[in-house]
Amino acid sequence: MRIHRVLVGVFLLLWVVPVWAQGVWPKEERVPGGIAILSIPQRGDAPPWVSFQGQRVFVAQRQGQWFAWVGLPLDLSPGAYAAQWQTREGEVPLPFDVAPKDYPAQHLDVDFRYVSLSAEDQARVQRELPELRGAMDAFRPVHRPLPALVQPVEGRFSSPFGFRRVFNGQPRNPHTGLDIAAPQGTPILAALPGRVTALNDYFFNGKTLVIDHGMGLTSLYCHLSEFAELAVGSEVSAGQLIGRVGSTGRSTGPHLHWTMSLNGARVNPELFLP
Ligand SMILES: [Zn+2]
Repeated sequence: MRIHRVLVGVFLLLWVVPVWAQGVWPKEERVPGGIAILSIPQRGDAPPWVSFQGQRVFVAQRQGQWFAWVGLPLDLSPGAYAAQWQTREGEVPLPFDVAPKDYPAQHLDVDFRYVSLSAEDQARVQRELPELRGAMDAFRPVHRPLPALVQPVEGRFSSPFGFRRVFNGQPRNPHTGLDIAAPQGTPILAALPGRVTALNDYFFNGKTLVIDHGMGLTSLYCHLSEFAELAVGSEVSAGQLIGRVGSTGRSTGPHLHWTMSLNGARVNPELFLP
């Protein structure tokens, strides 16, 4: 009986410690909206310089080996691609293939204000876009090991990533995040540590904030009812309260819309969940 307990204890230690010691590591899915994880034969602790379609790519080290996490845009056509690894001798292509993926269509009814925009609202969206995109697509050369990812809200996944969206019968942009339904006021936690790079009330996204985790990895949280005491420039840790669930902007009920971006590409947040 006693020896049994000791064995169970040793097993748990062996099993739990490596998982606990590891930081965030997404699952690989080489499809539009997925992530290609490419190994880079570069030694040393200086992060390699890798780019894809002109954008710098996130790199991370695991057991002394460097890897590039290439975000694959949702509108990428299936086929053969290559990321570029910058070496002293020149660029080295890192080839990979992207397979097709069929995302289902989703029909939603929303306030007509969000489908046929007034001139005033259209102007507002045009003003807001560069601010949001600039924050989501930024590359800050801040390289630090990241801890395990915290799911920002517990709840039902009410609308998966990638769905083709039809609002009031009219096709619109695909769903570039994951919706998690939760009661109004539910705390929202930062998925990973980083710096707040956008915090505002936007037309479509409602009360929204962007956290920049460094090296082109960013997260976006939309439709909040309220923000925690944060401002652009605030540093947050993983699991820190950043706001509360709401239904502001183009939304059909209280939920969190959560987006993850790599090298300017929106990728499926579920790939980051343990
Ligand atoms: Zn959404």
